Amino acid sequence: MAIVGLNELFADAEARGYAVPAFNVCDLENVQSILNAAEEMKAPVILQAAREEVQYAGGECLVGMIRATARNRGLMLAIHLDHGPSFEFAAKCIRYGFTSVMYDGSRLDVEKNAQETRRIVEMAHAVGVSVEAEIGTIGNTEMGEVVESQYLADPVTAERFAEQTGVDCLAAAFGTAHGLYKGEPKLDFDRLAEIRRRVRVPLVMHGGTGIPPAAVKKGIALGIRKINFSTILRKAFIDEMKDFMGRNPDELMTMTILSAASRAMGASAREMIAMCGANGRA
Ligand SMILES: [Zn+2]
Repeated sequence: MAIVGLNELFADAEARGYAVPAFNVCDLENVQSILNAAEEMKAPVILQAAREEVQYAGGECLVGMIRATARNRGLMLAIHLDHGPSFEFAAKCIRYGFTSVMYDGSRLDVEKNAQETRRIVEMAHAVGVSVEAEIGTIGNTEMGEVVESQYLADPVTAERFAEQTGVDCLAAAFGTAHGLYKGEPKLDFDRLAEIRRRVRVPLVMHGGTGIPPAAVKKGIALGIRKINFSTILRKAFIDEMKDFMGRNPDELMTMTILSAASRAMGASAREMIAMCGANGRA
């Protein structure tokens, strides 16, 4: 087992032209089903948790659970903070044992975002932890936010931001959004290509749920090396749980219910791993 930072994972992804899937986790069922999928498919994976997920599980419990589940299975993985809200929270997660953190200063003006990101990069790099940052604004389909062009990352700004901050990878908004898309997502690949031309570090795609496989492929060809999947796995889990309860309304063993839901989540994870081209890479 190797629990590493993102750079170790990106080196191979860059050399062989694939993306490492990043799955959000907050409980044992998530961790087991995703790590089982990773082991079966010999795929490197990133297990990540946003603030609410870290708080739900407890940071030490979450890291302990991942480490114990991954032990002796020859896995290559990173434990990453998703959309970190502050320097303090990033420091806390590093103390818990996260090997990578994201700082999301996308709601700040870009200079402030760069300053705060730089501060976190200095702190994290001092202890061998990698840093992701966000530029532009990745919308949220559930909040009805429209991904208009003014929210997308400007390539020149992205180039300067990456140089100023020293980040290890960059989530540069090019039209994806969190949650379930209402129609076909409108992705600005010309913008992504220009960002790729200017920015030297690997790029991250948030809002992987519902992006058609052909668009994922195109993104990977244009330098996307990490793709975040959260809603799609939760949906698989919950759909199966509802189905299962419909078929077995008197079931009282939570283990039985959760096992069925976990299998559905694992199947979804395997599908996303294959879509990223990450199978057989670990
Ligand atoms: Zn995100």
